[in-house]
Amino acid sequence: MFNKFFRQGNIVEFHRELSLGGMPLSYKLRKSHSAKSMRVSVRWGGTIEVTVPFGASDSLVEDFLLSKRTWIIEKLAFYKNAPKGGFEVILSENKLRFLGKDYPLSIVCTSSTERVVLGDDNAILYLCEDSIDAKRRLLVKWYRRQAKKLIGEKVAKLLQKNQLDSSRRMSIKNHKSLWGSCSSRGNLNFNWRLTLAPEIVLDYIIAHEVAHLSELNHSKKFWALVEEMAPHYRECEQWLKLNGSYLSF
Ligand SMILES: [Zn+2]
Repeated sequence: MFNKFFRQGNIVEFHRELSLGGMPLSYKLRKSHSAKSMRVSVRWGGTIEVTVPFGASDSLVEDFLLSKRTWIIEKLAFYKNAPKGGFEVILSENKLRFLGKDYPLSIVCTSSTERVVLGDDNAILYLCEDSIDAKRRLLVKWYRRQAKKLIGEKVAKLLQKNQLDSSRRMSIKNHKSLWGSCSSRGNLNFNWRLTLAPEIVLDYIIAHEVAHLSELNHSKKFWALVEEMAPHYRECEQWLKLNGSYLSF
């Protein structure tokens, strides 16, 4: 298929198909006036994106992809076997994940208040009705409450440490594709799903958004600020890339 489907600024996108060692592959081809060389990326979920200089011929692009064949196939296999999202595991395998640790989860039917009790090595869900929907509803409520308390405390500490206005508004959100954000008014928003991630990752996202209060961009100055507050931020970014499916439920 060679249909042109999208044009944005100096980039034109096409859907293409290619047989890579007998394996049919579809990919997104982006022809860009500013690209100096060819590059290929395999995104989470297995979408292949190829960016090439505007004048690159079809045969040149296909030769390039064939030369990257082993790498592409490896990446596709990795995403195919990657672990499922954290919340899905919780719902199907009776585990509660909190700050990167899994706690075996028992369910107790109760006629009184529904609640979650987290111990040192296990968790108990007191539910009136044992169904996936009831479990999901109670857990999301519990995670949101934990996020509000934990992230709230961490944000307050970081604002104080950096001598920033401590009356900032902080909200917990149910984003599908965002871990955190900072508005131009300086309101901080965080995804409750961050409480499933290891604490070092949670701390990095908080540092990232707090750094945006001083630098509302991703400049060198911004990353230097982040590094001061979260020295392991590169590893955390990598972790988020690999575990991004947490967001897809
Ligand atoms: Zn940012």
